[in-house]
Amino acid sequence: MPRRTKILATLGPGSSDDHSIRELIKAGVNVFRLNFSHGSAEEHCQRAETIRSIGMALKMPVGILCDMQGPKIRIGSFIDDQKINLEDGSTFTLDSQLDIEGGHQDAVYIAQELLEDIQKDSILLLDDGRLTLQVSVKTEHAVQCTVTQGGVLSSKKGVNKFGGGLSAKALTEKDKADIKTAAALNTDYLAISFVQSKEDVEETRELLKQAGSTAHIIAKIERAEAITDDFLPGIIAASDGIMVARGDLGVEIGDANLVAVQKQLIEAASNANKVVITATQMMVSMITAPTPTRAEVFDVANAVLDGTDAVMLSAETAVGQYPVETVKAMARVIEGAEKHPLAQRSKHRIDETFERIDESLALSAMYVANHLKGVKAVICMTETGFTPLLMSRITSSLPIYAMAEKLGTCEITALYKGVVPVPFDASQIDPSEVNHCAVEKLREHAEVVDGDLVLITKGDFVNVHGGTNTLKIVRVGDVIR
Ligand code: PGA
Ligand code: MN
Repeated sequence: MPRRTKILATLGPGSSDDHSIRELIKAGVNVFRLNFSHGSAEEHCQRAETIRSIGMALKMPVGILCDMQGPKIRIGSFIDDQKINLEDGSTFTLDSQLDIEGGHQDAVYIAQELLEDIQKDSILLLDDGRLTLQVSVKTEHAVQCTVTQGGVLSSKKGVNKFGGGLSAKALTEKDKADIKTAAALNTDYLAISFVQSKEDVEETRELLKQAGSTAHIIAKIERAEAITDDFLPGIIAASDGIMVARGDLGVEIGDANLVAVQKQLIEAASNANKVVITATQMMVSMITAPTPTRAEVFDVANAVLDGTDAVMLSAETAVGQYPVETVKAMARVIEGAEKHPLAQRSKHRIDETFERIDESLALSAMYVANHLKGVKAVICMTETGFTPLLMSRITSSLPIYAMAEKLGTCEITALYKGVVPVPFDASQIDPSEVNHCAVEKLREHAEVVDGDLVLITKGDFVNVHGGTNTLKIVRVGDVIR
C-alpha cells in the first residue's frame, strides 16, 4: 500500500543539484518547497526546471510550492557572515543605523520601522525562539537588550515579538515581484507568509491571475491574529489550503498552545475541503545527525494521526548534512504511523447532507471503499483534482489513484493525503475502453492483481470540472467496460 501522508521538502544550496533532487524524489519527496526567503529568482527557476525534468524521467509527478518570504522580520548580516555567540546576561543591540551587513559581537542591523512596535521590556525572540532578548533601553534608532537566553546567532535570522504585533502587511514589494517569478516557473502552489486576513489571500489570488497563474494558494498560519474566530474561517475559505507554520506561530502564541492549535487547524481545513501542511522542526536534529530522535518520530507520527495531508522539512533538506536520510526516515515513520487504526477509519461528515453531486459521489465512493471487502484501490478520473481532494478528506487505508490528463493536475494532487497521481489521457481512448485501460495501468505496476475489486469514479464527459457523477465497481481480471 503506498504511503498516504505526503512529504514536502525544502530545497537549498546543498540539495539543488540534479543528483540530490533525484535521490530526494526516490527517497519519497512528493512536493518541493522553493523558499523565496533565500536564493535568487534564477536559482528558483533552475530548481523548478530540474524538478520537472527529473520527475518526468522517473515518471513521478512531483509538485512545486513557492513560499513567499512575507514581512518576516530579520536581523541584518554579520561581517563576513560569521556566527557570534551570545552569552546569557550580556548586552546586545539592534540598531537601524548600523550597516545592513555590518553586524558584530555587540550589535546587528534591524529595520527602523520595526522599532516603532518595540517598547522597553518587550521580549524579542530570534531564530524561531532559540534565543531571547529583553529590551532594556529604547532610543530613537536602536534597542539595547539583555540576552535572557543565549546561543549562537548567524546572519538574517528571524525576529518575533512575544504576543505578536510586529509583522506588517502580508504582501511586501518583494513578494509581489516573487509572485511573478513563481507564475513564470508555473508553480503548482504558492504559500503566503504571515497571512492576517482573507484579504491577503484575495490580493494574492488577484496578483497570480494577473501574472497568468492558477496556482493553488496555501495560507501560512503563523500569526497570533490568524487563529482567532474573526479571521481563521475567512482565511481558510479564501485559500486552497493552509500550513500550520509552527515556527513563527509557536513563537507568537507560546509553544504550549501549539498542540491544540495544530489539531484544530488540521480539522478545520479538512472540514472545509482544504489541504493542510504541518511544518517546522519535525526532524530538526537530523540537520547534523543521521537518525531522528524518538521525540521527532512521535511528532511526525502524531501529525499523521491528526490527519495532516503533508509534513514539511525545512533546514533538514535545505542545508542539512543528511537530506536523503531525513526523507527516508520521515517516510518510514509515516508508514509506521499509518498502520494505526486511527489513521485508517473515519467518521468524517457522516451526519451531513450535501449540495453537490460530485461531493456526494466522492464521499459515497470512500464509504464503499472502506466498507466493502476486497476493494484494493480507488480510481478517480479527474480534470482539476477536485474529486480526489474531496475523497482524500476521508480517512482510509486505500490508495486513491488520481488519473488526469494535465500534468499540472497530477502535480497538484501530489500533495493530497492518500492520493497517487497518475498521468492518463482518457480523451485519447475509446470511451468503452477507458475503464479497462485505467485498471490495466494499475495492474502493469502490480498495484492490483486478478480478483481485487477496484472502484472507478468519473463524469460523462472527460476533461470537465465538477462533472463526476458515476461510481463503478469492477473486478480485476473480469471483462471491464
Ligand atoms: P518559514 O515558515 O519556515 O518560512 O518561517 C514556517 C514556520 O514559520 O513554521
Ligand atoms: Mn514562518
